[in-house]
Amino acid sequence: MREYKVVVLGSGGVGKSALTVQFVTGTFIEKYDPTIEDFYRKEIEVDSSPSVLEILDTAGTEQYQQVPVVLVGNKVDLEGEREVSPSEGQALAEDWGCPFMETSAKSKTMVDELFTEIVRQMDFCPLPDRSDTCCSACSLQ
Ligand code: GDP
Repeated sequence: MREYKVVVLGSGGVGKSALTVQFVTGTFIEKYDPTIEDFYRKEIEVDSSPSVLEILDTAGTEQYQQVPVVLVGNKVDLEGEREVSPSEGQALAEDWGCPFMETSAKSKTMVDELFTEIVRQMDFCPLPDRSDTCCSACSLQ
């Protein structure tokens, strides 16, 4: 089974832990408890290939370069409080040369699709020694 290392980055409070925990356990964390660093592991099937994701949920300040990235706008369930438009997110993703996805850890919108896309990004990565991918989360709120 192929293993994928995923790092979740972004400012505090945007929903990095909630997204990760929703994906791994299927539950939503309501309470905000600033993360220091947590490590998770989950097996999924992506395009018929069994895959193991090792996910590092960070405090958000780390810098990673040259790795495949998926830009995430989280909290899409709070549409009425939206501060980042889909076109702004899309434009930034085009600037970074990466996919953009809007998610909600609360309503489980696009959470499985997000982590599936992360695996695909690593599979498509042309350099054989690249094993880490960043999931960079920002809040749409
Ligand atoms: P982190 O610091 O980026 O890890 O943020 P957390 O995962 O701890 O989330 C911060 C707060 O936002 C918590 O109170 C979560 O319940 C809330 N939150 C996270 N994701 C969502 C979401 O998709 N929708 C809503 N409405 N709240 C969310």
